[in-house]
Amino acid sequence: MNKMMMLAPIVMTGVAATRGLAQTDDGPRTAIELYFQAHALGNGDYIRQAFAPEAMISFVDGDQRKQWTREEFAKRFNGAAADEYRRVRRVESLDIDGSAASAVVTLDYPQVKFRDHLLLLKTEGQWKIVSKAFSAERRKGDGQEALNKVLEEWSQPFEPRRIIGNVYYVGSNLISSFLIVTPAGHILMDTGHKEMLPQVEANIKKLGFQPGDVKMLLNTQAHVDHCGGFAEFKRQTGATVVFSKLDGEMAAQGGRHDYANVGAFANGDEPAYEPVKADRIVADGEKVELGGTSLTANLTPGHTKGCTSWSMTAEENGKKYDVLFLCGLTVSPYKLTNNDAYPNIVEDARSSLRKLRAMHADVLLAAHGFWFDLESKAARQTVGAPNPYVDPTELSRHVAEMGKDLEDALRAQERQRPVAGSR
Ligand SMILES: [Zn+2]
Repeated sequence: MNKMMMLAPIVMTGVAATRGLAQTDDGPRTAIELYFQAHALGNGDYIRQAFAPEAMISFVDGDQRKQWTREEFAKRFNGAAADEYRRVRRVESLDIDGSAASAVVTLDYPQVKFRDHLLLLKTEGQWKIVSKAFSAERRKGDGQEALNKVLEEWSQPFEPRRIIGNVYYVGSNLISSFLIVTPAGHILMDTGHKEMLPQVEANIKKLGFQPGDVKMLLNTQAHVDHCGGFAEFKRQTGATVVFSKLDGEMAAQGGRHDYANVGAFANGDEPAYEPVKADRIVADGEKVELGGTSLTANLTPGHTKGCTSWSMTAEENGKKYDVLFLCGLTVSPYKLTNNDAYPNIVEDARSSLRKLRAMHADVLLAAHGFWFDLESKAARQTVGAPNPYVDPTELSRHVAEMGKDLEDALRAQERQRPVAGSR
């Protein structure tokens, strides 16, 4: 989930423009990386390397202008933070003219977001930061409050409908839930969060089906907005709960210790939803079957470590269609480099993109409506018109877009450091 910077598990884009990054002269970036390293390792020596001796650090406190010398600033660094794996640093812009440069960088932390305006000069072949002015924006309330607001905005009622063949949409405006109907009972994919579950069940009934006939509950990702209602739904129906191994482990802890909970769940040590145990774990390529419908689990890790995209064939008017339920490819708001909680995040995200590039889908569906343009397709859905959900080019377009989002974020974020003894 997430469209907002505050709520990283969900962000769609969120990568700022990185003017000038492509055509440099890497020089100023090297000084900025030393500055990032000071923060990452909590070591003031990197401040002494990154800043010129006479550099000043300026900010406003109350209504007073305040300043620190380089030394005063360097002395504030006292070791790495416990939540370092949730601290994302980005170069938002970098303008270079000869021996002068200016940069805007953000330090995007769970509790606070700093925005630094840096001035840099090059002398004797070396770039140094000569001035820094910064602002700090504290996150309001705890993460839970902001999350609840997004969940509410994303779970507005949405008319349930048939998508294609035996596949129905029973989710909200922006959080998907799909019902796959078979003669042997039904398959439900994702429930939304717990508060959204009654809406999903009402949608199932509105279409003339019974929640109690759901035999299998599949998951795309173990985030609160997709499986927060699983424990309750299982209690009500006894449906078999199916997860990938890694997302199953996360769901069993109620989403605790998610590598990606930047700001969304305070410190991430509390469960984000009622824990639920998988009845069945699926591996990559494994099929689940019910009443003649077969769904294949395609592991597409990145957004979560066990993110699962499901594929199946649907039949409509005598024609067969490849349907893909995409887990979600958003990773750009997360800490992509030096992330001890998910060292392989970039490799995983890239290989998921590669895998999806090689796949074909006539119908692209996804865990959030904004990933497959649900609203505009639903508006074009009229009797007798061609099925608006059929678009064999959409998957490749979406994958290209998300690939660019990832690479842009990687360019903007702090760089990967070689693994040092201190880490
Ligand atoms: Zn998510």
